[in-house]
Amino acid sequence: VKIGTPKEVFEGEARVAMTPDSALQLQKLGHECVVETGAGALAGFDDASYKDAGVEVVKTAAALWKAADVVAKVRAPDATEVKRLRDGQTLISFINPAANEKLLDQAAKKGSTVIAMDMVPRISRAQKMDALSSMANIAGYRAVIEAGNNFGRFFTGQITAAGKVPPAKVLVVGAGVAGLAAVGTSTSLGAITYAFDVRPEVAEQIESMGAEFVFLDFEEEQQDGAATGGYASVSSPEFREAQLAKFREMAPEIDIVITTALIPNREAPELWTEDMVAAMKPGSVIVDLAAEKGGNCKLTVMDEKIVTDNGVTIIGYTDFPSRMATQASTLYSTNIRHMMTDLTPEKDGVINHDMEDDVIRGATVTHEKAVTFPPPPPKIA
Ligand code: NAD
Repeated sequence: VKIGTPKEVFEGEARVAMTPDSALQLQKLGHECVVETGAGALAGFDDASYKDAGVEVVKTAAALWKAADVVAKVRAPDATEVKRLRDGQTLISFINPAANEKLLDQAAKKGSTVIAMDMVPRISRAQKMDALSSMANIAGYRAVIEAGNNFGRFFTGQITAAGKVPPAKVLVVGAGVAGLAAVGTSTSLGAITYAFDVRPEVAEQIESMGAEFVFLDFEEEQQDGAATGGYASVSSPEFREAQLAKFREMAPEIDIVITTALIPNREAPELWTEDMVAAMKPGSVIVDLAAEKGGNCKLTVMDEKIVTDNGVTIIGYTDFPSRMATQASTLYSTNIRHMMTDLTPEKDGVINHDMEDDVIRGATVTHEKAVTFPPPPPKIA
């Protein structure tokens, strides 16, 4: 079939869902590829590089949506794009289906199949398609770089002819995919790095990267994440108090805080409180990766950088992957290509949308005129 990628229409979005490299791989599956002119420009891929990879380049979004049997995108389609969806067409994209009921209804009514990259089950077999993880990895890395860019000192300690420089102290709150990437980046830059998570099983990973896991003086739990499929649930009030007391003690010493704590389908928990911000030294930096879900710090302003009265910079950007558009597009387009590999089992350019396959089933949110979200729980964990 023909796989097409339009230029993203969301303002400021620089990523692209197909790169010249991923197009070469898609062609090996027996497919043809087409992009809208300029689709990869902001990610560093010009039309010529697509043409060299055997990709057809069309002049308009309308032509692209018309030509493609499968449309691969980054952002969920906007109203104009939804209008362009047609019967028998497949759309592969981030969708956020829980918040996009109308889109699902419209797509189902039209007879389009929609595959949500953010619904790929997080099981080992599907890791190669786990776009949430590849984007979170970039966000965690970039959060540290952004913090450094707004911090007036070195990360690593130095003894120089001009004097001794102490190392920066970095605290990462929440050690999921983004948090662990932040920990790795921070330690490799030489900062003294601390990390905390309600899931104690990550302590070992944190320590293996040369950071220190922040243990609480708390008897009952750190919580048992095993009960919730590896995800965090809401902490008990006592646990939360112990956590906040620990952070309060650390705040005056910490130069950079990266918060990434999220609980599925809820607002982000408030973990870095106003009094902690007030206790930080001037010049300190907070990067709040939970900004899109309300922030782990109440003072965070989504998509903005602010400086508090006591000189603490708080960064609430939500577009870190797009700020590294080349890397993000390379990884995301590879996730899409792996999805296409599973959808093309015979490598003959023919799609076999197998709803018996857990991964394909899990990610499919509309199919054969029906909304198929939410999926049944996966058979294998
Ligand atoms: P996430 O983005 O939902 O949350 C980020 C982190 O915040 C989590 O580690 C969570 O425990 C933590 N958190 C929540 N409340 C907190 C609090 N009060 N204080 C401190 N930390 C708090 O998580 P994610 O990065 O998407 O990953 C979640 C889990 O899924 C992890 O166990 C991860 O290893 C697992 N995972 C598995 C696969 C796979 O097997 N294919 C892929 C990706 C992630």
